[in-house]
Amino acid sequence: MSDTLAKTIRETLEGGRAGAVVFLLREGDGLMPHVARDASDPLIDKAYGGDERYPMATFAAVLQPRLEGNLAVVARECDRRMFIELAKFNHLDLDRIVIIGLPCSQALADACACDHPTPADSILPALAQPVVSTEDGLPETVPERLEFWMDNFKECIRCYGCRNVCPLCFCKECALDKEDLTGTGVFPPDIPVFHIIRALDMADRCIDCGMCENVCPAKIPLRTLYRQMRRLVKETFGYEPGLDVNEKSPFGELGDPERLGGVMHE
Ligand code: SF4
Ligand code: SF4
Repeated sequence: MSDTLAKTIRETLEGGRAGAVVFLLREGDGLMPHVARDASDPLIDKAYGGDERYPMATFAAVLQPRLEGNLAVVARECDRRMFIELAKFNHLDLDRIVIIGLPCSQALADACACDHPTPADSILPALAQPVVSTEDGLPETVPERLEFWMDNFKECIRCYGCRNVCPLCFCKECALDKEDLTGTGVFPPDIPVFHIIRALDMADRCIDCGMCENVCPAKIPLRTLYRQMRRLVKETFGYEPGLDVNEKSPFGELGDPERLGGVMHE
């Protein structure tokens, strides 16, 4: 993987497909993004292609306004979905992003229960079979489910890790910081309001990357929660975030019953 990755990064710069390439480097126990502008950059040989993930789209969105021309990014398929959503909200120019597709290993695809482990422009053949799961592991009945979520939410230490890592959580003013909504400085946060606010906000944006769940120190199954919201939006509106930059969220149509596919507020 690393030889192919380094070769592709150099070819991208030398061939003029992009003026800069972002990739990850191992730094101690963590990963750091690195920007290479020249094919002679020796750190290109150390480009990371392993299973650990990083919100590359967020970094690219911050970087892009500071660069001219195309920006290439070593990215997985979930990163591509982040790019698409960020472009819908004008947080980046998708026409100036070049994806150097990194396929996920079967171990990563299994861990993420991911049905899209290979990017369309992968630099290597697929390494994993898609994982298609219809099981959400939730209890059957509504009261049991309520109990399940309330038990989980009680563990929240309000670290904001889920919000901060999420590439699609970008509002300048966040409802989770509002004293009158979630009672700032309260531990655990107001249950379940804190989590419902975030789940509703993510319903038409979440691209199911699972990074929120990865960072949650309380081990709350956040991805399961947001998958429920995604499923509801898909079943109700036929809309799935992250697939098509020209397909806008149905939530933008709220207030116009004619355009809501017959879904009316009672
Ligand atoms: S899975 Fe979590 S981090 Fe990823 S987009 Fe959805 S809410 Fe954000
Ligand atoms: S990452 Fe987990 S513990 Fe931290 S605020 Fe989010 S849900 Fe709560």
